[in-house]
Formats: sequence, C-alpha cells, structure tokens
Amino acid sequence: MRFKAVTESNNRTPFVISEMERRSTLFGKHVFNDEKMLQFLTRDAYDKVQAAIFSGSKIDRKIADQVAEGMKAWAMSMGATHYTHWFQPLTGSTAEKHDAFFDLQENGRAMEKFGGSQLVQQEPDASSFPSGGIRNTFEARGYTAWDPTSPAFIYKTTLCIPTIFVAYTGEALDNKAPLLRALNAVDEAATAVAQYFDKNVKKVYATLGWEQEYFLIDKALAKSRPDILITGRTLLGSSAAKGQQLDDHYFGVIPSRVLAFMSELEKESMLLGIPVKTRHNEVAPNQFEVAPVYEEANLSVDHNLLLMDIMEEVADRHNFKVLFHEKPFAGINGSGKHNNWSLSTDTGVNLLSPGSTPMKNLQFLTFFVNTIKAVDRYEELLRSSIASASNDHRLGSNEAPPAIISIFIGQQLADVLDELEGVSKGKLSPQEKTELKLNVVGKIPEILLDNTDRNRTSPFAFTGNKFEMRGVGAKMNCGKPMTVLNTIMANQLKEFKKEVDALIDKKSLKKDEAVFNVLREYIKTSKRIRFDGDGYSFNWQEEARNRKLSNNKNTPEALQVLTSKESEELFANTGVMSAIELKAHQEVELGNYVHHIQIEGRILRELVYNYIVPAAVRYQNELLENIGGLKEVYGAAHKSFTEPQLNILESMAEHMVAAKKLTDKMIEAMERADNMGTVAKKAQSYCNGIKPFLTEIRTHLDGLEKLISDDLWPLTKYRELLFIK
Ligand code: ADP
Ligand code: MG
Repeated sequence: MRFKAVTESNNRTPFVISEMERRSTLFGKHVFNDEKMLQFLTRDAYDKVQAAIFSGSKIDRKIADQVAEGMKAWAMSMGATHYTHWFQPLTGSTAEKHDAFFDLQENGRAMEKFGGSQLVQQEPDASSFPSGGIRNTFEARGYTAWDPTSPAFIYKTTLCIPTIFVAYTGEALDNKAPLLRALNAVDEAATAVAQYFDKNVKKVYATLGWEQEYFLIDKALAKSRPDILITGRTLLGSSAAKGQQLDDHYFGVIPSRVLAFMSELEKESMLLGIPVKTRHNEVAPNQFEVAPVYEEANLSVDHNLLLMDIMEEVADRHNFKVLFHEKPFAGINGSGKHNNWSLSTDTGVNLLSPGSTPMKNLQFLTFFVNTIKAVDRYEELLRSSIASASNDHRLGSNEAPPAIISIFIGQQLADVLDELEGVSKGKLSPQEKTELKLNVVGKIPEILLDNTDRNRTSPFAFTGNKFEMRGVGAKMNCGKPMTVLNTIMANQLKEFKKEVDALIDKKSLKKDEAVFNVLREYIKTSKRIRFDGDGYSFNWQEEARNRKLSNNKNTPEALQVLTSKESEELFANTGVMSAIELKAHQEVELGNYVHHIQIEGRILRELVYNYIVPAAVRYQNELLENIGGLKEVYGAAHKSFTEPQLNILESMAEHMVAAKKLTDKMIEAMERADNMGTVAKKAQSYCNGIKPFLTEIRTHLDGLEKLISDDLWPLTKYRELLFIK
C-alpha cells in the first residue's frame, strides 16, 4: 500500500479548472437569495419572508405554499431534481435526507411536487441521531423545520433547505436551534442598550468571520493509513527530519496542485454565496487557511459547515484528502478555527468599533466593557463550548491558546479603562464630564488606529473592532461557541440595562452618568479576566489559579459546568436552552468523546497486531537469518560482526513486548469502561484510564519505526505524507 501510494502521489499533475467568469458574477448563483425571491415570489410572499427574517414573524400555510412554489420553479430551472432539509445534528457535522420532486398522481401520471408542508417540515428518521435521552424520555419523534433566515441553495442537483432539528416536545436536537435562540436573545438585549445611543436602532445582529485551518494530504497516501482514514489523525509516526522548524511554509508559495484545488473551491463557494476571500499557507507543512468576509452569525455558521462539506468533495477531485482534525500530526502545529465576533446594528454600525464622536465612543465602551464582564463571569462556560476529544490535543500545547480563558485588550485600551475606573460615584461635575469626554472617551479612535500590538497567545483578543476567539477547533461547528458567547452577552446586557435604568429612575442620574457609573463597577469587578502576557507560559497557569480562573484541561472536566445551577439559570433567563436540553447536550458531547477515543483505541490495536508487529517479525527474521549465516561462515569469530544486528534485535524486542503488553492492557481497560453505568463515568475513564495508553503505545511504535528497515515499514511515513510536490 505504502509504496504504491507514494508512486501514485509522485505522478500527479495539477488539475486546473478554467476561470472564465468573474467571481462577482458567480456569487450567489446557486442561492435562493433576495434577487431570486423577487423574481420567483409574489410581492406578498416576498414581504412575508422578509418580515420573518427581520422580526421572526410566522409564515402561514398559504404563504409557505407560495414560497415553496417559487423555490421549486427556481430550483427546477437550475436543473435540480431533489430537495432536502439540511440540518446540524449533535454529531457535529451536517445531515440531509433527499426526496425527489417527482411524485405520482392517483391516476398514475407523473408530476413534480413540492408544497408548503414539504418546505416547512420534514421528519427524518431521528432515532439514528444522538439525542442525549430526550426522545427516550418523551417518546417523541424529531422533525426538521425551515429556517428562513438562511437562504436555500442548490448543491449539485439538490435544493437544500437549512433547517433546525427538534423533538416534537420542542427540545433542540441540533446545534442550530440553540444558536437561533441565542441570536434572538442578544438582538433583544443589545437593541435595548443601543437605543440609549440611537433611537433608530431596531435590530442588532451578531457577526461572525471564521478563519478555517486545514491540512491537505495526497489521497492515495491518506488512504494508505487506516488511522488517518478512520480517525482523521495519525496515531503513530516518527517525526520527519524536516518539520516546521525552518518556517519556510508560512506565507510561502502555494504549491500548484494546492492552488488548483483552492481555485475550484473558491469557485464553488462563490456559486453558493460563501464570500471566501483569503487563502494562504499556514505554519505547518501542508497546512493552509481559508477565510471569508464576515456575515451574520447564523448564516456564517451555515457557510462554514457547507464549506467544510464542499472542501471534502473538491479535495477528492484533486486527489487530496482534507483533514480538519485539530491535531493530525504530532510534533507540528494543529488546526484551529478563529471566530471573529462582533455586534452590528441594522443602521450599519459596528457596536465594537469606536466612532468619531464621544457619544459613539461611549457606545463602543459600553459594549466593549459588557463583553469583558460577560466573559469574566462565564469564562468556564465559554471554555466548555470548545471542548472536544480532538481539540484537547491542541488547547494548551504551546501552539494554541491554553484551556484558560482570558481577554487581551492591549495597553492603550487598558489605560482607558484605568481612567474610567477613577470616575466619581453618582453625579459627575461638568468639569469631570468634559474631561472624560475629551480626554478619555474622545481619544479612543486615534488610539486604536495605531494599536497594532497583537497578542497571539490570547484565547479571546480584542483586535480593533471585534473580538477574536482563538480556541475553537478546526473541526467544530462554530455554532456552539457562538451560542454561548451570544447568550452570555444577552444576559449581561439585560443586567446592564436594568442597572442603568435604576440609576436614572431612582438616583435621577443623567443617562451618560448612569452608564459611566455602571461601567466603572464592571471594570473594577472583571479585572481578573484581563491578561496581556504570554498565555503559553507556565507562570500564567499559576497566576490564573490565583485569580480563580478555571483551567479545565480535558473535555469531561470542561463539560461539567453545562449543568451547574448558574448555567441553568443563565440559559433559562435568556430562553436559549432548558435544563433538559443542557443535560441532553452534555450527554451527547460526553458520548461523542467516548466514541472518539474508543475508535482510536480499536484502530491502534489493529495497527499494533496486524501491521507493526508483523513487520517487526519480518525484520527480526531477516536479521536472524543474517546472523545465522555469519555464524556458519565465521564460527566463533562471528560475534565481532553481529553485534549491531543483535543490538537492534534487542531494542526491537523491548519495544514489541511493551507495545503488545500495553495494547492488551488498553483493551481490557476499554472493556471495563464500556461496562460503566453512566456516560459521565465512561468519559472520565476513557480520559484518565485509556487515553494515556494511546500516547505510551505510540512511543514504542515510533521507536520501532526508527529501527526497522525502510522497505519493510508498512505505514506511510511523516516525510512522505507531509510534503506535497
Ligand atoms: P487576522 O486575524 O488573520 O489578522 P483580520 O483581522 O483581517 O485577520 O480578520 C480576520 C477575520 O475577521 C476575517 O474573516 C474577517 O471577515 C473578520 N471580521 C472583520 N470584521 C469583523 C466583524 N465586524 N465581525 C466579525 N468578523 C469580522
Ligand atoms: Mg485570526
């Protein structure tokens, strides 16, 4: 397998597609967007859909029928034959169930059918999707329901309709339903606060711009490794002589095969309305990044998931396998997905961007400080939203932010907050107000313009007009961290509004005085979350402990907070998730964690027993035959010739014995863990009792790779996998 794959990969040529059409004319061609709605819907239906998008109003059955009719006409004019509800079950990926438009009438004649009821609701066989016990408890089935805020699109010959996936009793069985609720909550809370500064604001959108990192491996090479194929990462492999130490890949020339892949990917993205914009090499060999222009958060999440789906297909056409795993190779950087986040009004104002007047800057400070306060209070919950078995390999391993959440804001904004902390309590004198407006709040825009200092080790950094969440895993649905971030922000802004209103009503403070007063307290009480130093350093771990910040290093630990009293209250107050849903989502995540490591353990067992030990035995036999031969020819004198061979035999034997023993022990431990009563206990035991075996066994296998003759080594090596020609 290995040598055939290497030969195959050496003979590849780039598969260049023609790019005759301009990107801007391709953009959104396969999307049922505003332009198509105007063409294919009646004015009434168009207005009702727009109202539903803007204010969440209901679409009645008659209108749904009209929308479906228009959508069908458009889709069929584009050559679509099927439709599907496209949804995001808790497995982390996307799911779809295709139905043909084609149907038979009672008289046996063929027709194309797609009505309001098919558009609005579908019933996939929910029993095969994880539900964390929700369906068992309620004996309810699940259904998918149309999300009109994310436009339908055509992929290949299928009309895809973005939907939520919920149980008949209403509980979310997916990642989208909670996200939509969180976006709704933050819209309500942020609009109320934004109206302090501008009465015209009617809606606030969360915005998200992700940066997706990934690896590309030759398809034949990837297929030659069962671990990559099944688990998405290498479970063994001795480091290549050349890794990323020369730093020659980052922003280097993109290899031509990869460039051809990227061009086609970008073309497909354009057709689907995904506004991808940047592409470049990343730090590790064969690692790359793609990032779009930011969008409304729900749409952006959909676009990220859709992009990951298309990437796999386009990669396949270019004879690549794309790896989204957070840590596919030991010893070189893994992949993340930075989530750039902000809040934006329907009047076009970025609430985390300083403005040109003191009033606009006070608005900026309000949202800025409230974000800090929200993250300070719920740092552990934010950490839980990026927990997964594969991301555990990356967080805190000196290439990605630590498992401790902290905020970087830069020295200059820290100085502004320090000054605000000194604001008097209660009413402000006219001089103090002028001083504040001119010299503190008024100065912010200049400051940010030359604020280029960027701390790359911070998990939550302010970058001029947005926050950047850096601990998100490459493989993850960013809907999860976006749900938590927008929920805690909604909750925070609600409390802020209450406090400010109380000061205005009861203490008769002016609005700006009240805002200054509340912000001052927030600045004082949220200091522990601010950290501008080196997040990778050991000292920070100690310092964070003193500050009582959480440092949950693995997924089972990190997920516990989901069902704490405080979390339950937060999600209930904001209407984002019920206690039942939180418990169910926690169970599903824990279950995912267990399965992930269980599969790795099983694959590793196969590799040890069926690949590595047999190869080692073959090499042993070669050496033994050689030693025997030398002994026959030279008699007692053979010893001076056979010492190296004997040494190798001994070292090999040590590794083989250890690898086999540890593998057997791991399998026994897995059997014990699988019999445990609760998924929480299983997860604990996979984390502490099984995961360490994977690392230990690997060291022995990597030891064997260094000893065994190259022509007998069965698995494609790092140096072959990692350098695309
Ligand atoms: P980098 O972090 O690599 O230095 P940039 O600062 O240029 O890159 O931006 C990174 C990402 O931030 C882009 O994907 C961009 O779309 C996104 N972004 C920019 N402004 C906003 C915003 N207001 N809200 C959300 N994302 C944003
Ligand atoms: Mg970034």
